[in-house]
Amino acid sequence: MDAEQLREHAHKMVDFIADYYKTIETFPVLSQVQPGYLQDLLPDSAPNQPESLEAIFDDVCSKIIPGVTHWQSPNYFAYYPSNSSIAGFLGEMLSAGFNIVGFSWISSPAATELEVIVLDWLAKLLKLPEQFLSSGQGGGVIQGTASEAVLVALLAARDRVLRTIGKSSIGKLVVYASDQTHAALQKACQIAGIHTENYRLLKTDCSTNFALCPDVVSKAISDDISVGLIPFFLCATIGTTSSTAVDPLSALGKIAKENDMWLHVDAAYAGSACICPEYRHYIDGVEDADSFNMNAHKWFLTNFDCSTLWVKDQSALVQSLSTNPEYLKNKASQTNTVVDYKDWQIPLGRRFRSLKLWMVLRLYGSENLQSYIRNHIKLAEQFEELVVADRRFEVVVPRKFSLVCFRLLPPPNDQDNGYKLNCDLLEAVNSSGKLFMSHTVLSGKFILRFVVGAPLTEERHVKEAWNVLQDKAAALLEDEVG
Ligand code: PLP
Repeated sequence: MDAEQLREHAHKMVDFIADYYKTIETFPVLSQVQPGYLQDLLPDSAPNQPESLEAIFDDVCSKIIPGVTHWQSPNYFAYYPSNSSIAGFLGEMLSAGFNIVGFSWISSPAATELEVIVLDWLAKLLKLPEQFLSSGQGGGVIQGTASEAVLVALLAARDRVLRTIGKSSIGKLVVYASDQTHAALQKACQIAGIHTENYRLLKTDCSTNFALCPDVVSKAISDDISVGLIPFFLCATIGTTSSTAVDPLSALGKIAKENDMWLHVDAAYAGSACICPEYRHYIDGVEDADSFNMNAHKWFLTNFDCSTLWVKDQSALVQSLSTNPEYLKNKASQTNTVVDYKDWQIPLGRRFRSLKLWMVLRLYGSENLQSYIRNHIKLAEQFEELVVADRRFEVVVPRKFSLVCFRLLPPPNDQDNGYKLNCDLLEAVNSSGKLFMSHTVLSGKFILRFVVGAPLTEERHVKEAWNVLQDKAAALLEDEVG
């Protein structure tokens, strides 16, 4: 590593990235390439001799960028956002610069200690109960994704109960969640050895706006107990992936407590909004949770990846995930005076991810972060008003955060209640390259999801997106009638 060469090349890279952001609106938001496109454009094997950075930049422009879907485009309204910011970017850069592997405290004390502190800061912004702070038995940790967060929570919960009832009873353990829960929980159950038939996806419907109904949970639990099964894990979602449904945390917490179950709260997307006092009520009841997860890389200006997880009892994680091989032994770990994050996660190695979250919190400050969230919610409200004002459309579930779920109303006698019509509308909009949205299906209806959450999105982008949607809808309706 030659420091002067790094300086020269890194300056060029920063210029390249800055120009990318300046011109980001000129690219089709959703990549329009076909599968396998890159195979024909790149050589079969790696070069024998070094090539110039300029040659690589040329290839990035001509061959890579066409295959990029521009998540940071202001016209990106799909899935959930994956935020970047100057602060997050600089933190990533610094982390790449240090390039440490902070699996245990001794492997880079600042990495562990900054993570502990920053997760406490964020827990306080979210007003999480004291038990989630590092001062007691709990604490926070940065995972790569919400999928890893729910997996480690599930493993900790599983092993906690198996220590009491014996490992051979694993076939009796039952997990509960709503049918709107992210598929990450299903994957976690598969990995954790929970029997497929013991993974209860409880039905939701429009009567509760797709939130879990506590009575349904209680009934499922008592039915299972009556046949000798052992309920042990309940997952509540605050802001489901399809429609931002909010499960009733307080009621679910009571049920989990009464049945001695682990309650995990998945607030991967909507958790960020809970730093605003007016949205904090969505996580009222978190006092009874055992673990809480929010993806700072979704809607909190922190570049991917940064999924924050808090647990009340860190020893449950450690008992489930710790290993102590000779080659990692050291005085600090042996005397139990430090956190070794390798015991709170699946992999051993871990990046210095707290740097970027620290930089986000410091370079913005909580007031700006709150305004950031509020602005997106305001833009989503404006979009919702546009939809409501056009009688050809309907908003399908009430909007809570920055996601609007809507659809084009089908003409009378439409064969499939607008399923194909809306599917075609989505295809027409996305293939225009002007914006990118995604979809879901709720109660058999094909629904368009419009999420405001890209840091560069302004009112004009939302209005323009709506114009494109209206034009494409008009053309499709004309075709249907014609
Ligand atoms: N939970 C919810 C509510 C989500 O919306 C998502 C992704 O959008 C996930 C979990 C999975 O996220 P990750 O990609 O971080 O595993």
